[in-house]
Amino acid sequence: MGNDALIFEQGSPGRRATAQAPGHLPAPDGIPAAFLRQEAPGLPEVSELQVVRHYTRLSQRNFSIDTHFYPLGSCTMKYNPRASNSLALLPGFLDRHPWAPTRCGQGFMACLWELQDMLAEVTGLAGVSLTPMAGAQGEFAGVAMIRAYHRARNDDARTEILVPDAAHGTNPATAVMCGFRVREIPTDSDGDVDMQALREAVGPATAGIMLTNPSTLGVFERRISEMADVVHQAGGLLYYDGANLNAILGKVRPGDMGFDVIHINLHKTFSTPHGGGGPGAGAIGVGERLLPFMPLPVVGRDESGEYHWVTEADRPRSIGRLSAFMGNAGVLLRAYVYARMLGREGMSRVAEFATLNANYLMTRLRQEGFQVWFRNRRASHEFIISFRREAREHGITAMDVAKRLLDYGYHAPTAYFPLLVPECLLIEPTETETREELDGFVAAMVAIRQEGIDDIDRLKGAPYAMPVRRLDEVRAARELDLAWRPGDNRTTDTSTATRRAK
Ligand SMILES: *Cc1c(COP(=O)(O)O)cnc(C)c1O
Repeated sequence: MGNDALIFEQGSPGRRATAQAPGHLPAPDGIPAAFLRQEAPGLPEVSELQVVRHYTRLSQRNFSIDTHFYPLGSCTMKYNPRASNSLALLPGFLDRHPWAPTRCGQGFMACLWELQDMLAEVTGLAGVSLTPMAGAQGEFAGVAMIRAYHRARNDDARTEILVPDAAHGTNPATAVMCGFRVREIPTDSDGDVDMQALREAVGPATAGIMLTNPSTLGVFERRISEMADVVHQAGGLLYYDGANLNAILGKVRPGDMGFDVIHINLHKTFSTPHGGGGPGAGAIGVGERLLPFMPLPVVGRDESGEYHWVTEADRPRSIGRLSAFMGNAGVLLRAYVYARMLGREGMSRVAEFATLNANYLMTRLRQEGFQVWFRNRRASHEFIISFRREAREHGITAMDVAKRLLDYGYHAPTAYFPLLVPECLLIEPTETETREELDGFVAAMVAIRQEGIDDIDRLKGAPYAMPVRRLDEVRAARELDLAWRPGDNRTTDTSTATRRAK
């Protein structure tokens, strides 16, 4: 069997992973016949060594933080310290049953309570709920709270959420899922929200605005206080998309900027391995006005220092529950340990190094002649370069560069987002990379551009060193088929991510 076979296509009938220790476990007695399988489950029939080799090989094909520089703008693919991982996996945490009575879970609850407290402090907000399980779910919770707030005041005319055109796609999607109309606000030539357009858009229909600051354009909204006033005076609330929080941690707080509600992607800023659909946590923070509406449960502490779950009995106006139990507890515990390790000083250093690395890399690339999009702005923790000129003059697109970077051992930056910048890469080096790594990336970018000038066809064929070449992404999205069925032949056409639907 070749290295590329699916695990189902390896092995042979009757082979088992237990060859060195034969002896079958009988099915336990007492399971009613109706629930017993009539047919074998169609699992791969492979030896233990085949399993080990198969998954080891697959893991070695991964681009991950542990192996490669991963400057995926907005996603904050930074190094996740091993210490937070190993402490989050202590047996007392790992073996705790979610139904355990609170008196048996006081240590666990103390960690969550302190995490709520620390996040309230770093965001400048009055209360925190940890239950949303992704940034997108935190957004949903936040906008649902905005809706609940207006409804509680019988203010039913507020049907619109304002969203800048640079926003992450989850922002308008969230607004629509909560039943609002999205009103798009343009960006001015410096990358700030267009104030004139904002003033014209707000009114009695404004439920709120969703903002990312620093924005996904990599710049800090300079007139944020003014914007907050404009929206508040119109009766709307301000939602803060906290995906870029590592840029400002310990420096400036969304609550102080005037935001009423925020989500924090704990898996981004607070260091949990993510990407590829790994678990996340989208803790939300709220100001006083939204406290009654928070998703539950949250952890409370009474005067004797004992922790308890705050539930619907205490907060009858809550928007409800978003996850079973406490959300992704493992991610929350990693965030807790990470925050404790950093402390106040460490948090500020996160922002300082995130910003320093981004500005260093941006400056180096600019010196090499790459087109930085907002030339007159300092980068926050990420920045945009555009290949519009290279595309016009040499046919070199952002996609070509992104694909060729893989051959050079770098994960591609975020490509073609934000949508308003043509042929763009959004580059976030993060605070955990060394100068040498950043210099290596610059050298690769320079080499790739030269390759494109010398031989565009070769560049268009990249990547060459990867197990698959260029994928047909449209087809992969429209006809995604990841299921294997007996009788399927393995994919020989590696130019497409999909196999034909049966
Ligand atoms: C990642 C991200 C989100 C969505 O967060 P998830 O945790 O992936 O659901 C929202 N907004 C921005 C700007 C992001 O970068």
